[in-house]
Amino acid sequence: FEDQSVDLSAGIGIACWPDDADDADTLLSRSEIAMYAAKRQLSGALRYDPGFDLASAQTLSLLSELRRAVEHNELRLYLQPKVALHGQPGLAAEALVRWQHPQRGLVPPVNFIPFAEQTGFVRQLTLWVFEEVARLLASPQARHLPLRVSVNLSTRDLLDPELSTRLAGILARHGVQASAFCLEITESAIMDDPQRAEAMLNRLSEQGFKLSIDDFGTGYSSLAYLKRLPVDELKIDKSFVMGMEAGEDDAMIVRSTIDLAHNLGLTVVAEGVETAAILARLRTLACDEAQGYHIARPLPVDDFLAWQARQGEASPL
Ligand code: C2E
Ligand code: CA
Ligand code: CA
Repeated sequence: FEDQSVDLSAGIGIACWPDDADDADTLLSRSEIAMYAAKRQLSGALRYDPGFDLASAQTLSLLSELRRAVEHNELRLYLQPKVALHGQPGLAAEALVRWQHPQRGLVPPVNFIPFAEQTGFVRQLTLWVFEEVARLLASPQARHLPLRVSVNLSTRDLLDPELSTRLAGILARHGVQASAFCLEITESAIMDDPQRAEAMLNRLSEQGFKLSIDDFGTGYSSLAYLKRLPVDELKIDKSFVMGMEAGEDDAMIVRSTIDLAHNLGLTVVAEGVETAAILARLRTLACDEAQGYHIARPLPVDDFLAWQARQGEASPL
């Protein structure tokens, strides 16, 4: 497919009349339930079993709810500031999605991103987030700010051959530059299919996007491979940063990662900065940027802009 080799696997769901259902609609929906079970169990083909109902009914309803969430404007863009630790110019933030569910209230991403990744729906979600950020960057409140926003990409995004074209379309529609974005990709997403990931990262980098490796330290990428990638930034996983006060092991990992990143010519961001002591320590370790609850929680866009404006007046962190 377009010079790429693609591994396909089929999941087949079977429902039979009259044992599994009496009418055509129920028959179709039960075969769909069996298909999702087959995909989940990687088992090729499965016959419908009433036991599948509960899990799959939830899956199907969550999927249709997620579709509805996009159509009915239930998703919310939150921004968490990323601050420079050594007075470097510019403002930065990470875009994090939230779901304002009409019944369940504010749903955190852990409750739907993994599911969206499994079903492939995350691609629509990524485009929604990217477009919201583009809209913000083009808005009168943000147009004059030296703001760069990080957007998270999933494996599914990275393996979509149309990704860079779709992003270019959104940039053109809003008249914003690729360089106003940083794309965050986890180490494990890259390692799912290193060859295709590298090809897509090269395209995105040529397009002008900054690239960041997220959750660094938790995956299995080799240094030799990393060195080849056109990335600009490493983001140290919050588990190490949060553990810095409690144990010297984590502190050592953070220190070595900072040195490693700098030796590779990359900037380094620590996420999960929850205390002033950790922030101070990161500064002495020459970490470039920090992000975390101690600085600010992820904020709705208007609150973020207000926070940013207050920072301009206050003394630096
Ligand atoms: P992530 O990309 O590693 O995002 C950082 C997560 O750490 C965010 O959780 C953020 O709220 C949280 N965090 C920030 N500072 C602190 C801190 O000081 N302490 C602690 N304990 N946590 C902190 P959130 O917003 O719940 O997102 C969780 C994950 O969901 C993200 O992890 C990312 O993998 C995924 N996610 C969120 N939004 C999106 C999105 O728009 N697209 C995609 N593909 N994934 C997203
Ligand atoms: Ca991230
Ligand atoms: Ca992260």
